[in-house]
Amino acid sequence: MGKPTGFLEYQRQLPADREPLERVKDWGEFHYHMSEEDLRTQAARCMDCGVPFCHTGMMIAGMVSGCPLHNLTPEWNDLVYRGLWKEAWLRLKKTSNFPEFTGRVCPSPCEGACTAGLATSPVTIKNIECHIIDKAFEEGWEAPVQPAKRTGKKVAVIGGGPSGMAAADQLNKAGHSVTVFERADRIGGLLMYGIPNMKLDKSVVQRRVDLMAASGITFVTNCEVGKDYPAEKLKEEFDAVVLCGGSTKPRDLPVEGRNLKGVHFAMEFLAANTKSLLDSNLADGNFISAEGKDVIVIGGGDTGTDCVGTSLRHKCNSVYQMEIMPQPPTERAANNPWPQFPRVLKIDYGQEEAAAIAGADPRHYLISTKKIVGDENGHVKEVHTVQIEWVKDEQGRMIPKEIAGSEKVWPAQLVLLAMGFLGPEDQLLTQLGVERDPRSNVKADFGSFATNVPGIFSAGDMRRGQSLVVWAISEGRQAAREVDKYLMGTTNLP
Ligand SMILES: Cc1cc2nc3c(=O)[nH]c(=O)nc-3n(C[C@H](O)[C@H](O)[C@H](O)COP(=O)(O)OP(=O)(O)OC[C@H]3O[C@@H](n4cnc5c(N)ncnc54)[C@H](O)[C@@H]3O)c2cc1C
Ligand code: SF4
Repeated sequence: MGKPTGFLEYQRQLPADREPLERVKDWGEFHYHMSEEDLRTQAARCMDCGVPFCHTGMMIAGMVSGCPLHNLTPEWNDLVYRGLWKEAWLRLKKTSNFPEFTGRVCPSPCEGACTAGLATSPVTIKNIECHIIDKAFEEGWEAPVQPAKRTGKKVAVIGGGPSGMAAADQLNKAGHSVTVFERADRIGGLLMYGIPNMKLDKSVVQRRVDLMAASGITFVTNCEVGKDYPAEKLKEEFDAVVLCGGSTKPRDLPVEGRNLKGVHFAMEFLAANTKSLLDSNLADGNFISAEGKDVIVIGGGDTGTDCVGTSLRHKCNSVYQMEIMPQPPTERAANNPWPQFPRVLKIDYGQEEAAAIAGADPRHYLISTKKIVGDENGHVKEVHTVQIEWVKDEQGRMIPKEIAGSEKVWPAQLVLLAMGFLGPEDQLLTQLGVERDPRSNVKADFGSFATNVPGIFSAGDMRRGQSLVVWAISEGRQAAREVDKYLMGTTNLP
């Protein structure tokens, strides 16, 4: 149980980040590593409280509390404290296929639910997780494993994001022959072409893909099912199908000037940048450059932050991030108690970098875009905004109300729309006859993951809507279990 006096004795400590003004000069990851001695001290802070909440993964007040993978955090914290790294890795592997991804990008709902957070600050679970798996790769413990026996069943996984990768990994372990179809030229989904390199180095993603391929999984890239590969053929050639195509329809901004040159969805900007970076270190010029431009990012969430960090690395002239909601409090509000996910102000890497360069957080809250104005060549030159307040309408719903006289004009030569995603694309789902839920996601109950079409299952963002990597991995694992049961009548998958 770690050290009996754990968090009473030791303060929470995270590894230092690289200096913002230095790290914006390259695309390398921005965290330094901690020494093993310091990590063991941090693990010692976990005192295995009687009823730990960190691994529950429950929905409370519409947000997740605790780890959706049910990672056995108190157990591996204790093993790390005792220096038993290999045993800690074996414990971690029981519940998670890809801790190297969550250890880098998870918003760590486990830490929001950590009991130590009630009295002091939570255990640094995510950072310890990251070190366990990085060490496992360094030591060669993570190695390809072929299943002892093949079942003769064939499964197609559509989409190579974290949910598809997790489903494929589990189904391969169960002995099925798995083919992952991915329309992009590289596997990883948003791990590869959404989250930028400085947050998750793409060699970390590729290392896992290579290991899975060496374990017997077939990856087919540059192949969009429903276009390059006929949907009907899936049913003929495979015994089961798992749809993991993500939630890829971006929310648009229906204002005047939306179609001007220089106004792009965030994903157009981020995906092209990573592809060009990987293909040619940005030498091919096949990306949308923010160099020398005034950039307005519309959307105050993580995708917007990734746009800020990327624009700064291009050496933009200025960058501002607009958010229609109010600024969250710096401490938990009374209506957001532990162990709920803490809805507090986060200073993420992009904001820290923008502040280091320009002297202030780039985010502006309670602001709404009225119109985008272009120059004589049809290129964006200004964004017109107004401050709003949230008021109740006659039915008691909160609606935005403009504050008279608060209009403002922002110079902009690049506008990036980062306002979330509306659901999966239609083509393949229509061709397969798969039903949708009222939010347009694939209709497949959590737990069974089965669609209305026998033998077709779904997991990840395509089923639950835009979410998190940890949920994608969790759903991919659980869907694999259901597929195995469907194919074999029983399952040994966790
Ligand atoms: C910019 C950005 C940053 C994010 N940052 C974080 C973060 O820091 N932490 C976090 O936890 N979450 C983050 N998220 C959310 C997270 O990335 C997603 O929740 C997660 O990747 C969903 O996984 P998935 O496998 O369901 O879908 P995806 O990762 O979207 O993968 C779906 C894949 O399916 C492929 N595909 C779709 N249709 C077809 C078809 N017909 N044929 C073949 N292939 C197809 C797509 O090309 C894609 O590669 C971020 C999201 C974005 C957009
Ligand atoms: S996957 Fe996320 S929620 Fe689970 S233990 Fe790791 S950081 Fe915490």
